[in-house]
Amino acid sequence: MEHHENEELYPGLNVNKGIAQPPSVNPYLKPKKRKRMLTAHEYVEEILKGNVTILSQAVTLVESQVPEHQALAQEVIEKCLPFAGNSKRIGITGVPGAGKSTSIDVFGLHVLKNGGKLAVLAIDPSSERTKGSILGDKTRMEKLSVHPNAFIRPSPSAGSLGGVARKTRETIVLCEAAGYDNIFVETVGVGQSETAVHSMVDFFLLIQLAGTGDELQGIKRGIMEMADGIVINKADGDNIERAKLAMAQFRNALHLFPLPPSRWTPEVLTYSGYFELGIPEVWDMIDRYFEFVKNNGYFDTRRQEQEKYWMYESIDEHLRANFYQNQRIADLLKVKEQMILNCKQSSFMAAKEVLDKYFNK
Ligand code: GDP
Repeated sequence: MEHHENEELYPGLNVNKGIAQPPSVNPYLKPKKRKRMLTAHEYVEEILKGNVTILSQAVTLVESQVPEHQALAQEVIEKCLPFAGNSKRIGITGVPGAGKSTSIDVFGLHVLKNGGKLAVLAIDPSSERTKGSILGDKTRMEKLSVHPNAFIRPSPSAGSLGGVARKTRETIVLCEAAGYDNIFVETVGVGQSETAVHSMVDFFLLIQLAGTGDELQGIKRGIMEMADGIVINKADGDNIERAKLAMAQFRNALHLFPLPPSRWTPEVLTYSGYFELGIPEVWDMIDRYFEFVKNNGYFDTRRQEQEKYWMYESIDEHLRANFYQNQRIADLLKVKEQMILNCKQSSFMAAKEVLDKYFNK
C-alpha cells in the first residue's frame, strides 16, 4: 500500500513498509470434527456389550427434552426391550435421614459379592425445585460409586413426577439390556413418588427408624401397604432395644392389613447400615420373596400390570399435554374461569363446554 505521508510534500515523515502479521487463527489447527451422533443401532450394539459410556449417553438422551433426542431414545428403548426384563428390580424408600444412601452402599456391595451388576437409579421429583437433587450426589454411596460393576445415576430432574418416573423406567430397560441384573430405584419417602417407584419394581423396601414410640403415626398407611418388607435401620448401640420395639409395633400393625395380592406377608427386620449388622438377613428376606412370587406366578402378573399401568400413564400424559397446550383451549379456560367465579355457569357445565370444544363437538 502506498502511504501518502511519504510524498515530497511531507519531508519530515517516513512511513516504513509494514511486515505481514500472523493470522489470528492458527493455520495449522485442524478444524475439530463435530462428533457424529450415533444411530439407534450403534447405541444398542454398545449397550448390549455393556459399554458404560454409551449407556450413560443413552440415558442422557432419554432425559433430554429435545424432540430429536426423544425420538432417537424411543428407538433405542424399543430395540433394547427384547434384551430387558432379566433383573431383580427393588424399590427403596425412607424419609431423608433414614439411612438410604448408607444402606444402599452396603446392600449393593452385599449383592455384588455374588457377582452380577447393579444399577442404582433414583426418583426425586423435588430435585428441580431444590436445584440439586437430594438423591443426586454420587458421593453419598462411597463404596459403590467406585465399584466397577455398579452404575449410579441420579434422578432425572425435569418435569412432573409422571415424567421423571417414566424416564427412570425407561432407564431400567437400558440398564437391563446392558446386563445389570440388579436394579435399585431409590426415592425419598415423602409423597407420591413411592407410588411411582412401586409401579416399576418387583420388591418394595421401606426403611424406617425407631422413634419415640409413636412412629407408626407418621407413616402414611398407603406406603406401609405397598411395602413388601419393612426394615428398621440404625439398630446399633443403645438404639437396639428401641429398634426391636419398633419392629414389634410394625409387625402388629401389619397384621391389621389384608394379605396383599402377592400373598406374601411383608416381613419386618432390624439392621444397621452404618455398622453393617443384619445385612445378609435383609437380603435373605428379599431372596425368599423372589422365590415365593416366582413360584406362585405373581412376579409375572405384577410386571404385566405395571406394563399396562405405564401405557395408560403415557396416554394420560399426552392427552393432558395436548389439551392444556392448545391455545384455543387455554383462552376458553380463562373465560370459563371468570364465568364460574361470577356464578354465571356451573363448574360442570363449563368443563363440558370446554371439552366439547376440544373434541369439536
Ligand atoms: P438418607 O438421607 O436416607 O440417604 O440417609 P443417609 O444414608 O445419608 O444417613 C443419614 C445419617 O444417618 C448419616 O449421618 C448416617 O451416618 C447415619 N446413619 C445411617 N445408617 C446408620 C446406622 O445404621 N446407624 C447409625 N447409628 N447411623 C446411621
